[in-house]
Amino acid sequence: HDGRTIEARITLFGDNERLVLVRDVTRLQRLEQTRRDFVANVSHELRTPLTVLSGYLETFLDQASSQPDTVPRRLTRAFGQMQGQTHRMQNLVDDLLTLSRLETSERQTERQPIDMASMCQWIQEDGEALSQGRHHFLVEVEEPRAILGEEREIRSALSNLVINAVRYTPDGSTITIRYATHERGAMVEVIDDGDGISATHLSRLTERFYRVDKSRSTESGGTGLGLAIVKHVLLRHDARLDIESDIGQGAVFRCIFPASRLDAPAGTGNFPR
Ligand code: ADP
Repeated sequence: HDGRTIEARITLFGDNERLVLVRDVTRLQRLEQTRRDFVANVSHELRTPLTVLSGYLETFLDQASSQPDTVPRRLTRAFGQMQGQTHRMQNLVDDLLTLSRLETSERQTERQPIDMASMCQWIQEDGEALSQGRHHFLVEVEEPRAILGEEREIRSALSNLVINAVRYTPDGSTITIRYATHERGAMVEVIDDGDGISATHLSRLTERFYRVDKSRSTESGGTGLGLAIVKHVLLRHDARLDIESDIGQGAVFRCIFPASRLDAPAGTGNFPR
């Protein structure tokens, strides 16, 4: 009655035994909300000082490169490092803000029809921009129906998977982007033939800041939040992420969308939107 949240779980045993567990989760929810607000506020407050810092560093480095004799080389190197670290912090703050926006906004997303052939093309281009010719890309589109959702969010989630495939596989690897029918609806798979991930890590990969190899992730510019963002975007689209991998077996990141998130096939006479 006073805005409290009560959680009830009923477990069935055999034919007529039931275990009913009732918990007041109000305090837990408030704590969780405080945590989210805190992270969102701190991230927001960090944005401006980081922008100012990176602006000054850029001006300094521009001057150092146009008049190299005026600045000791050691100093230029140190400032270059500072700029790299500042960019890392900016990426981290951006990802934290994205995650908190995804966590707090309404679960229901918009339902614009997203043309998945174009989507696959865009995410391939995002991957190619990072790979610079070091990887092979294949795109297979076997399902004609559009996904109903928010194009920007879906693109950022799928792009994340392709960018990870580029970051965590050796040069010469093949990355396949596949949009196909699934028994529950449709799926987008990002498949690579890289070194794979030990099965023991798979269930924890979508946790915030969970990394298999921390130094490699940091080196490659990762924030440790990519897969947590992917999971939240998919949740908001009633979809889920399955990961299949093992050492030496490459990896498959499969986003499964339910039939309710699929548009009617083109040409079935649905009304114009
Ligand atoms: P990060 O910013 O560290 O990339 P993510 O949440 O995107 O964070 O990924 C978590 C971890 O999962 C990565 O640090 C990496 O160890 C592992 N990972 C993700 N994608 C792949 C992949 N395609 N192949 C091997 N490892 C991967």
